[in-house]
Amino acid sequence: MYRKVIAPSVLAASLLLVIPASAASSVQGAPGIGDSYYPESGNGGYDVSHYDLRLQYQPKTDLLEGTATLLTTAKQDLSRFNLDFGLKVSEIRVNGAKAKFATSGAHELEVTPAQPLAKGKQATVVVKYAGKPSEFKIDGWSAWQRTPDGGIAAQEPDSAVWWFPSNDHPLDKATFDISINVPDGTQAISNGVLQSQTSKLGWTRYNWRSNKPQATYLATLAIGKFDITTDKTASGLPILNAYSKDLGDNAGAARASVERTGEVAEWLESVFGPYPFNALGGYVPNVPTGFALETQTRPFYSPRQFANGANVSVVVHELAHQWYGDSVSVDNWKDIWVNEGFARYSQWLWSEKEGEGTAQELAQWAYDTRPAEDPFWQVKPGDPGAENQFHGAVYDRGAIAIQALRNEVGDEKFFQILKGWPTERAYGNVKVGDFVRYAEKISNKPLAQLFDTWLYTPGKPAFGAPAAKPGARAQAPAKPAVEPKSWKKIAATNNIHEH
Ligand SMILES: [Zn+2]
Repeated sequence: MYRKVIAPSVLAASLLLVIPASAASSVQGAPGIGDSYYPESGNGGYDVSHYDLRLQYQPKTDLLEGTATLLTTAKQDLSRFNLDFGLKVSEIRVNGAKAKFATSGAHELEVTPAQPLAKGKQATVVVKYAGKPSEFKIDGWSAWQRTPDGGIAAQEPDSAVWWFPSNDHPLDKATFDISINVPDGTQAISNGVLQSQTSKLGWTRYNWRSNKPQATYLATLAIGKFDITTDKTASGLPILNAYSKDLGDNAGAARASVERTGEVAEWLESVFGPYPFNALGGYVPNVPTGFALETQTRPFYSPRQFANGANVSVVVHELAHQWYGDSVSVDNWKDIWVNEGFARYSQWLWSEKEGEGTAQELAQWAYDTRPAEDPFWQVKPGDPGAENQFHGAVYDRGAIAIQALRNEVGDEKFFQILKGWPTERAYGNVKVGDFVRYAEKISNKPLAQLFDTWLYTPGKPAFGAPAAKPGARAQAPAKPAVEPKSWKKIAATNNIHEH
């Protein structure tokens, strides 16, 4: 995964932005939502409940034209507010009236409506725009991936600014209708259910609906020439997968993995509870990158994930995020462990189910193979820093922490926690501490010290298998650990968040 690099100058500038605490009743909305890692992400002062994106894309030229309609509610009286966006805007209307606008910072769009927004009132914001997403760059880089037959928006922590204006932070989730017009013979893939598809005068329009709250970075757009497969789960959820026609030798392995989406989701429901969204699927475009991403209802997979044959483990990881990450989202990007620790742990549970090594064996191996002096142990999964947001320690040490919890509270309580949490906090935002308190409540055990050790204390803590029975003597010196059968397969997904 590309890490978002914040140039020191940008950081300094954003810290210097002073919001005038004027005595006037209307104020300007903050240019950031308050994220400690990414001060410019999101915006203050309002909340978006729905995005309606009506887009047209020409693969030959990379020109994206759009009208975005945002249903917003002001959280305070606002004389001005910000959107996050990078493409060229031609017009903005707020409640039907033309608004003034200006750009600032890396991706800020400052909107001054004709009439100030009133606290608690809904306001409709319409933004008309056009541009080539590949030409918009932040620190020399574009999240938009051009392909020989189209383009892809799938990145974390942000990709939205390359294709639609938004309040770009997981704290402000919304429902989405995404409609894309592309030349006949080209497909447009996005989140949720394909409501309809119509052709007219050489263009085909795809209408997608994601009807549950969705973070902006989990909205995705894939335009290109795809083979599409459709199916339904036993409970009636529509499954739609899309594969670039240009996957070469990876085509078979990609299908042999992603076509198991329904099966994997059914198993995950047995561990995490009811699937939280209206559709399932995945897509594999012809991109040269190596990562995968949990884009809501329809994860993105790079073809390279399938270079060694089928890779169901990466499907398990991205689908686990639908519960841990997409439905229950971070409050601040520093809470990334609530996403990645659990997605990695789900891969260990799948291995356990498949008889390829238990989660305890995988945790032990992850622990034993990293000596105490390995810098791996210096990263705190509970607050890794923006530069280490997707460090291997957030995944592996983060998952060992979950195994340590399991060993502490026992399987019955552990699986009760694992299944209860996504229901308890469905469609919300959480801090690491919220999970700790929930686990304490369900297990009726104090766990602050365990999590403090595993998530917040640099250095290699003690770790071992639990005693066989309460009261039984601790296991004799552990026999030399053996590499679990699934270890290399899971390790091969370590680049899911690497370029
Ligand atoms: Zn992940």
